[in-house]
Amino acid sequence: QEQQLSNGVRRRRRRVVLFSLPFQGHLNPTLKLAALLHAGGLAVTVLHTDFNAPDPARHHPELTFVPIHETPLPDAAVSPDSDILAKLLALNAACAAPFRDALASLLLCSGGHDDVACAVVDGQCYAAMRAAGELGVPVLALRTDSAAALRNMLAIPRLRDAGYCLLPIKEEKLDEPVPGLEPLRVRDLIRVDGCDAGELCSFVASVAGAVGAWVSGVVLNTFEAIEEPELAALRRELSLPAFAVGPLHMLFRRAPAPAEQGPHAPDRSCLAWLDARPPRSVLYVSLGSLACVGRGVFEEMAWGLAGSGVPFLWVVRPGFVTGAGASDGEEAPPPLPDGFEEEIKDRGKIVRWAPQREVLAHEAIGTFWTHCGWNSTLESVCEGVPMLVQPCFADQMVTARYVTHEWGVGMAVGEVVERGRVAQAVKKVMAGGDGAQMRERARHLKMQASDATSSAMDGLVQYIMSL
Ligand code: UDP
Repeated sequence: QEQQLSNGVRRRRRRVVLFSLPFQGHLNPTLKLAALLHAGGLAVTVLHTDFNAPDPARHHPELTFVPIHETPLPDAAVSPDSDILAKLLALNAACAAPFRDALASLLLCSGGHDDVACAVVDGQCYAAMRAAGELGVPVLALRTDSAAALRNMLAIPRLRDAGYCLLPIKEEKLDEPVPGLEPLRVRDLIRVDGCDAGELCSFVASVAGAVGAWVSGVVLNTFEAIEEPELAALRRELSLPAFAVGPLHMLFRRAPAPAEQGPHAPDRSCLAWLDARPPRSVLYVSLGSLACVGRGVFEEMAWGLAGSGVPFLWVVRPGFVTGAGASDGEEAPPPLPDGFEEEIKDRGKIVRWAPQREVLAHEAIGTFWTHCGWNSTLESVCEGVPMLVQPCFADQMVTARYVTHEWGVGMAVGEVVERGRVAQAVKKVMAGGDGAQMRERARHLKMQASDATSSAMDGLVQYIMSL
């Protein structure tokens, strides 16, 4: 790993170590950042868990992959039914010592601290931030959510003290604006159903503690044009440099994009199905890789889609419906409602996993019914596709508020998912004047996204070199 300088001197390249928690929505941006840092002249090692391990053969050949061999994960970390907070806590515990050991042996093998410029660590993995910091390695926290969501998260202890996060929140409070986090209302704040504000606060305290003690900068998969005030506020609040290097999936001018990491092989037959559809006629429905719904909501979604009369492509992944029954196993998708397939015939296409970015770029797609995961939202924005939003947990409520009210590129399915309302919302967004206006605004955001340059990435590389 040596570099030839213009004066002929050979010098060791500086190495960056990256580590992501093994969620689809964290791994993909991390691997893209890894490829971009490599293209920027840095040597890159990706430390990873055995669970959902990236396949080195499918990624950039010049990246080095090293497993940390985390301690065996309890059911809480892998069960599709468990909440996101339980997963985060279990993963932090399972990764703490193995990450530290893996990084320590890397420091020994690669010639010591001089070679490793910094560790870019998942901003939800306080255990890894702390371990790297304690080993004397400069740490950058990689956030795979928005700047608005990070501000909301860091404000949780203050919000709890002010009575905004204590569940159950009184109905009349839900539409109150949250001071300092406008345009968010109380109902838009980060929450995880089934866990109390105390648990959430102690997780946030661990993240904020690690950031405060060990982190030299924050890297976000967002861009200035879309979150300028939120980024400015975040920089003030953290007193740290914050690099808005997104949208990461768009920035491959110097390096080939790494292959997408997914829990299932994408079903590419949906692209041929889309080819046969008129432009902007199809609704794409996917709630990402983690969100689950109960059987009742699943049936309302299905019959709402059927009742709308609109052609649709729907990702129904194994585990998407909670309590689907042991006989379904992990790998079988949940059964569709009786009579549904006969009703929709060829008007609907159902897949276990879609090549989502290609789907969103397809001209047949008119609207994306999304849970507002940050990656899905950015992918939709970058293709100028308006959204129908059904946020499920964590930062998805925050993003949904920005999509519908701040950027004006989407509308809500409704607080209650009910077939009649679903059908109405789908028809409205696909055909109505509101839909056309959202599409126009989405086109504008798409242009701003494509103008996002690689200058923030250059700034990040320079900062890393200076550490
Ligand atoms: N995705 C995909 N195919 C699917 C569903 C999702 O490739 O059928 C990808 C999608 O493009 C996005 C990621 O999975 O990059 C989901 O990340 P997001 O942050 O939107 O949601 P999460 O899964 O973390 O809740």
